[in-house]
Amino acid sequence: MIEDNAKETKTVNDDRGISRRDFIAVSTAAAAGVILGVSSAEAASKQEKKPASSTGSGNKRPRTMLVKNATVMVTMDSGRREIKDGGLYIVDGIIKQVGETSSLPKTAEEVLDLKGHILLPGLVNTHHHLYQHLTRVVPAAQDGNVWNWLKVLYPMWARMRPDDVKLAIQVGLAELVLSGCTTVFDHQYVFPNGCTIDDAIHTASDVGVRFHAARGSMSLGASKGGLPPDSCVEEEAAILKDCQRVIETYHDSKPGAMTRVVLAPCSPFSVTDDLMIESAKMARHHDKVYLHTHLAESPDEERFTLSKYNLRPAGLMQKLGWTGNDVWFAHAVHINDAEIALFAKTGCGVAHCPCSNMRLASGIAPVKKYLDAGVKVGIAVDGSSSNDGSHMLGEARQAMLLARLNLSRNPNGPPTDKKEWLSARAVLEMATRGGAAVLGRDDIGSLEPGKYADFFAVDLNKIGFTGGSMIDPVASVLFCAPSNADYTVINGRYIVKEGHITTMDLPNVIAKCNRAALKVVTG
Ligand SMILES: [Zn+2]
Repeated sequence: MIEDNAKETKTVNDDRGISRRDFIAVSTAAAAGVILGVSSAEAASKQEKKPASSTGSGNKRPRTMLVKNATVMVTMDSGRREIKDGGLYIVDGIIKQVGETSSLPKTAEEVLDLKGHILLPGLVNTHHHLYQHLTRVVPAAQDGNVWNWLKVLYPMWARMRPDDVKLAIQVGLAELVLSGCTTVFDHQYVFPNGCTIDDAIHTASDVGVRFHAARGSMSLGASKGGLPPDSCVEEEAAILKDCQRVIETYHDSKPGAMTRVVLAPCSPFSVTDDLMIESAKMARHHDKVYLHTHLAESPDEERFTLSKYNLRPAGLMQKLGWTGNDVWFAHAVHINDAEIALFAKTGCGVAHCPCSNMRLASGIAPVKKYLDAGVKVGIAVDGSSSNDGSHMLGEARQAMLLARLNLSRNPNGPPTDKKEWLSARAVLEMATRGGAAVLGRDDIGSLEPGKYADFFAVDLNKIGFTGGSMIDPVASVLFCAPSNADYTVINGRYIVKEGHITTMDLPNVIAKCNRAALKVVTG
């Protein structure tokens, strides 16, 4: 696959002089540690700066990789097998064999011995706004609901510059991969001062994550009855033109894609009907370009759509043609039983963001009802200003706990039927194969022959697991305090090794991002 892509020739140039096919070739090769063209010097300099504790093959993708001796391997395959003393045999970033270590080849170009570790499929984050690392914990936005929070932050986001956003994205991606995340969906919808989605895509490629990039948008400013100030919105014609350019330049519909494009008008109260309709039309002209928006996050939004359209948020989506297998919604908190049935029938997915929903007092999404109805549900950390963290394992833990808190609202108290409780394993499934299904990926989300090698491993001998991991290591990953990943492998390549990120000089990036955030928040 790498060789095939590398042979492809330049087709459509964007104004950076990088074509879609060139970009895909470069990004796929970069993911494999192969150095090509313009990104070679940068990639090489990053490899030289890898932490001293990252040894052996560094972050280049080995041709063959043997992962062995995991205390337990959670496959998330169709039988949901958990294999003791498990491992994988990987060739060119694709899993070839899965099983007990004794059943696997004895050696490979790279051998990862996971004795004392749990091995899981990589976590899939289904909703984020990475740029919001620039506006974390802003005092005026700490104690208020989502509309209050937005009104405080919009003017700060209008000050962001491209270099600020790049730093925020680097930090956010580092935080995610260090928590076991391997696939990231990022919803960027504010593009001030020359910011473009290109920077996010190139930064993600440099970090080495599998990236679904939303060319988000806002077109309904305050002067037209929307919530955002006019300084944060764009003209619809310009939005649609750029969406088309981004799809043509970067979208890769093939299996194993490292970059896909999503069209994502921000929310019912920040875009027009026309933009929703035209975005859906454009996405559906392309293979695997999905649609995404915020929906039913707060009672404010419900009041807005009822007063403007006499429809609840989900009814508005149905009217605009925004239902289908290619659509997923962030939050989907205020959704009734009939709307759950609509999602199940039409194939709409949901990105569940428990920390953000608690932080902004948005409410509790009916996750158990979604799962029981057959709605696709993934886990998401949401943006870094409303969480204010990007720890995917921590987020999964909160999903499990929030669903339990929801049971306390039962008039007769929490049910005794254990099937009513959201188990740790059910949440891990949402965070892996559930998220993959939401994003339209059947090539990741589980550890099975033929799937791409995205996984992470955690040392079970850490203090936080003491006592628990001897009894039930799988459930311990969520019931015990969230741990960082010791190894995160994406597309067969180490991105986290021995607890350190291999693709950036993290302390330097953190220092720069802190300076950028101070500038954005204080003006
Ligand atoms: Zn969001």
